[in-house]
Amino acid sequence: MTRRENALLDRLRLVAAVLVICNHTSPLSSYTILGDFYLTRVLARVAVPFFLMVSGHFLAKGNWSGTVSFLKKTVLTYLAAIVLYLPINIYNGFFTFPQLLRRVFIQGTLYHLWYFPALILGVLISRQLAKLGHAYALLIASCLYLIGLGGDSYYGLVSQLSFIKELYDIIFLIFPHTRCGLFLSPFFILLGANVRPSRAPRTAVLAFLSFVALSAEGIWLHFTGWQRHDSMYLLLPLCMGSLFPIILSLNRGQDRRARQISALMYIIHPLFIALLPPAARLTGTSYVLSGNSIVSFLAVLFLTITVSVVLYAIRPIQIGKKYRAWREIDAGALARNVSAIRGAIPPGCEIMAVLKADAYGHGDVEIARLLRRFGVRRFAVACIQEGIRLRRALIGGEILILGYTPPDMAAVLKRYHLTQAVIDGHYGLALDRAGCRVSVHVAIDTGMHRLGIPSGDIEVLSSIYALKNLKVTGTFSHLCVSDSLDVEAQEYTKKQLSNFQESLSALSAKGIDPGRTHIQASYGLWNLPQQPWSIVRTGMALFGIKSSPSAVANSIPLSPVLSLKSRITHLTHLQAGQSAGYGLAFRTERDCNIAVVSIGYGDGIPRDYGLRGGYVLIHGAACRVVGLVCMDQMLVDVTDMPEIAPGDIVTVAGRDGELEITFTDIADTCGTIANELLSHLGRRLDLVCVPKKR
Ligand SMILES: *Cc1c(COP(=O)(O)O)cnc(C)c1O
Repeated sequence: MTRRENALLDRLRLVAAVLVICNHTSPLSSYTILGDFYLTRVLARVAVPFFLMVSGHFLAKGNWSGTVSFLKKTVLTYLAAIVLYLPINIYNGFFTFPQLLRRVFIQGTLYHLWYFPALILGVLISRQLAKLGHAYALLIASCLYLIGLGGDSYYGLVSQLSFIKELYDIIFLIFPHTRCGLFLSPFFILLGANVRPSRAPRTAVLAFLSFVALSAEGIWLHFTGWQRHDSMYLLLPLCMGSLFPIILSLNRGQDRRARQISALMYIIHPLFIALLPPAARLTGTSYVLSGNSIVSFLAVLFLTITVSVVLYAIRPIQIGKKYRAWREIDAGALARNVSAIRGAIPPGCEIMAVLKADAYGHGDVEIARLLRRFGVRRFAVACIQEGIRLRRALIGGEILILGYTPPDMAAVLKRYHLTQAVIDGHYGLALDRAGCRVSVHVAIDTGMHRLGIPSGDIEVLSSIYALKNLKVTGTFSHLCVSDSLDVEAQEYTKKQLSNFQESLSALSAKGIDPGRTHIQASYGLWNLPQQPWSIVRTGMALFGIKSSPSAVANSIPLSPVLSLKSRITHLTHLQAGQSAGYGLAFRTERDCNIAVVSIGYGDGIPRDYGLRGGYVLIHGAACRVVGLVCMDQMLVDVTDMPEIAPGDIVTVAGRDGELEITFTDIADTCGTIANELLSHLGRRLDLVCVPKKR
């Protein structure tokens, strides 16, 4: 915040919060009843309209686009307040169920909390009314306000007409006071949304006169005895409508701290109002603390401010993402890839999404949640921890563990409904002996010679299906050269496929049901004709990334889900002959500008990426990575880039303008496959999900 910012709007919320505390503590009541009435029931009544108008002002300024997140925040705050006052509610005795509904949705669970349901309902209504245009919206809201007014300060007058009294009897059944719900809040929210800043002298005169008139109205009403409640006055809209433009015209900038502390003050002050009398009794100070209205007001005020400031100071800090280095997952691309893969497999064949190694660095829980939304019901992971992680994030469906799990963990498998791969015959027996019935898929080794019961070992294989503690729901194998289109490789894959086929035939000849069958992974999809099995296990294809640039037989329209981005933290200048980075690995022959980018091998970038000719995208242009990549930084030559500044986004993988760098490209540059790179990502990289466009 620069010095010239006064954040008047936010700081006046603190004043409004103090007025609310006045309203609930009656500071002048020991001295003058009328004065206290004037302060707390007339003047202090500007506070809530002010809060509402500020909300309306900001929501309308953002064209109501922030409505949903504003409502979310408000609902969460209200829930927290409900929980905070639960003990007091319990002490006072529970509500009956219809009462409880009215309390939560209209009246608030404690006297001051009416504000939250009114704000939530008010924003919802205002948002709808605003679509009708300013004039109609305000007209309708004014009518609601007038109805509210009749049930508030002017009730004694209007209820002399019996049909009006009957109408209000009905309203009061739902709204105990007409300030609740829809009568007061939409009006002030819309007023705040519609007034423009003004510093015209006549606005100031109008504001002054309307406050004088409001004072007269309030005191006069006090003596008429008409007031059923004293939250709403005829002249309050005029006061606020003339005062707010002046405040707006003087306001410069924002003050988050004032905003949050004022909200805390509003929420917690009744706690001290409730605690003060017993505290005074316990400490024998009743005669000062509760005896004198000003002293008790000041005590409540002091405690409220102190605790609010402390709570603000210890609030959980959320560190913004996208400031150092982050992964961005594109939900739309993932959805399209799922559809494309479904289009490439036979009807009835299902996708099993392979989410090992943090879903290849994409964020396993986030990806699993998205996939569930896109209708994927089967998942595979490498180890039991990964399976448990998904279950703890409430991911349903089948989760197959592809690797070894110690047989003595059978109970854990069962508890988390995880399906275990039977990685060989001995393992199957050991798992059975663990004495806990678990779901398994039986692995057949058709030629990779890593996991599985050798495909020729029909005796061992078929014995697994008879084990009483193993519930076999699937049988699978894995191809080891399906990524290659070499003649020899293709022959090998064919052999693997026929081995699989023969094992399954042998099982069926023995009357054994193999459950769901699967052998294809991503390259099985890319390079083989459609297969007759019931599941495909896919990782790379789902994420739209090929392991290497080599050609594949079937083109499936897939796009990368993951981008990797970072920022320029600062720029340095090198003179010809100077070097930069570890090991003097980069020495420049010309004067050059170097951008320091906050991502390094600690984030998964290969250390020799620059030496092998790696580059990144900045402002849609390719820029060379120079020298050795450090653990947390790398250096990029930006000499030929005209307008570059600290904070600019650097795309390490992904698209920027016309250019795109894929993980396949990076892997190829570094002499490895994209799978290896992806599995080194993560840990301290933030994860950002770009939602799917509707
Ligand atoms: C990793 C893995 C897969 C997925 O491979 P992709 O090439 O990513 O589709 C499938 N099956 C097994 C046994 C695996 O280990």
